[in-house]
Amino acid sequence: MPSEVSRNKGAGVRVGDGSGRSARRANREPKVLDTQLVGILEQADRPLGAYEIARRSGWEDAPLTPTQVYRVLERLTRAGKVRRVESLSAYLLAGDTDGGFMVCECCRGVQAFPVGDVIAECDGIYAAARFSVIRLTLEVVGRCAACAKKDDGAAGSVAG
Ligand SMILES: [Zn+2]
Repeated sequence: MPSEVSRNKGAGVRVGDGSGRSARRANREPKVLDTQLVGILEQADRPLGAYEIARRSGWEDAPLTPTQVYRVLERLTRAGKVRRVESLSAYLLAGDTDGGFMVCECCRGVQAFPVGDVIAECDGIYAAARFSVIRLTLEVVGRCAACAKKDDGAAGSVAG
């Protein structure tokens, strides 16, 4: 199992010799990383990709690598704290969202929408087809109200 591949201690992490800060940086326990990632997603106004999360994790001048970010995201997703928006390859805090996502292709904004009994009703269809579901994604890609309004304005000025 290649789960403990990159435990490379001392890989250029020793920066502030004796300043006392480096000691805290070395201690990146899963809980600490989880909290950090949740914090980054909390501050974001839209779903973030793993590379963007890694970029924003410039924590005491030692940002996380995208691989580390993916590992933490996987853990948080399994725990139900984070959801992946497939059409954007990005992540957001689950909060109390469930159901589907409306994804704006212009601003990459995401709104959750309830799906009610639809999912339960579909279960019968999969069962009849003897299809075992691993993952179900319900996303609608389009334009949010704000972006559609901007587009209308632009189209209007071109036409007029
Ligand atoms: Zn939009």
